[in-house]
Amino acid sequence: MPDRPLLMIPGPIEVSPRVLAAFSAPPPSHLEARLMTAFRRALGNMRRVWGAAPSSQPFVVAGSGTLAMEMTAANLIEPGDRALLVNTGFFSQRMGEMLRRLGAEVTEVRAPVGDTPSPESVAAALAAKPEGSWKALFATHVDTSTGVRLDPGPLAGIAADHGALAVFDGVCATAGEPFDMAALGADVYLTASQKALGLPPGIALLVASERALAAREARRSAPPPYYLDWLSWLPVHRAYEEGKPAYFATPATSHLLALDAGLEEILEEGMAAHLAAQERAGRAMQAAWEALGLEPVPVRRELRASTLSALYFPPGVDAALVARIGERGVAVAGGLHPEIRGRYFRVGHMGYVVRRPDLLRRTVEAVAGGLQDLGRTADGAGAWAAAEAVLGA
Ligand code: PMP
Repeated sequence: MPDRPLLMIPGPIEVSPRVLAAFSAPPPSHLEARLMTAFRRALGNMRRVWGAAPSSQPFVVAGSGTLAMEMTAANLIEPGDRALLVNTGFFSQRMGEMLRRLGAEVTEVRAPVGDTPSPESVAAALAAKPEGSWKALFATHVDTSTGVRLDPGPLAGIAADHGALAVFDGVCATAGEPFDMAALGADVYLTASQKALGLPPGIALLVASERALAAREARRSAPPPYYLDWLSWLPVHRAYEEGKPAYFATPATSHLLALDAGLEEILEEGMAAHLAAQERAGRAMQAAWEALGLEPVPVRRELRASTLSALYFPPGVDAALVARIGERGVAVAGGLHPEIRGRYFRVGHMGYVVRRPDLLRRTVEAVAGGLQDLGRTADGAGAWAAAEAVLGA
């Protein structure tokens, strides 16, 4: 067995050789030409990968996805603001907690586990309060606890109809699921490095629309905490985009080299081709799970994310499966959603691995082998054939 597991959890994930090489270079200072070139290009490329308008502002700070969530909430939300939370699982719940701590009046629209609330129910919740009284709508593009992907288009449209900002948590989606920020009219799309962007963990990323920045600037209550304040970071990010160094707090320089390499790699492939490869790999893995008789948590096919699968344990199998798969050299994740935690497991398939059928195959075979270890009949070769048929189609 290899000396380390193949990372098929929903982040951190395997990174490409090019990203690894960039990350492994001696760390530059924040003033060095090498860093300045990478940071400048990465900021411009973020707009392209996000599909964001030239007037939008990308931010990259050291931290994880939770920091990107907190930074967004802390800049936009003032005490007493009304926020609508589309709650599809564990990470929506986390956002709700943050919003409440910031003093927002939060209305939640929920759906049963594995489903998303209908756009009509979201529109009805917004319509229940006076016109113009909503500050923002928050939704999770792909909920990592259920593998459910929602359709951001209708939600962004409904938010705009009610004068609310539309904020999407793309931590398990950005660069792995279609999302065209400008065309959607979304105001913030936030993520972390260790998921579909295909980088090591350690940076929080987001792009804010002009409207979102204006909302921060128009803030009447106390400013957000210093490190979280977009206005602390704005001059620094603007300076780097103009090719000038600036300092507010030391940037994660090695991560910025990796970010630049990763975004260049995606854009050289082309966004459309990149997303198509991700989508195909997602469908291939789903075909393998179907062949193995594993039931997905998302209740309808169109809700299944391309970036990860959440799968119920078959009868007679429990969380021991995750350990058995691990013994076969492949790391997958246990359940996370509190309502079904012990009943399912999760497999990430995003980023670099979507271009590596051999690694996808190892994963399918490890899952099939794990099932066999626990006394189930599972045809790994047949499951991989089902996946390969999708990949080759
Ligand atoms: N949102 C979603 C959808 C996530 O999947 C995660 C991480 N799994 C987070 C937020 C939090 O990100 P992090 O763990 O990087 O803080």
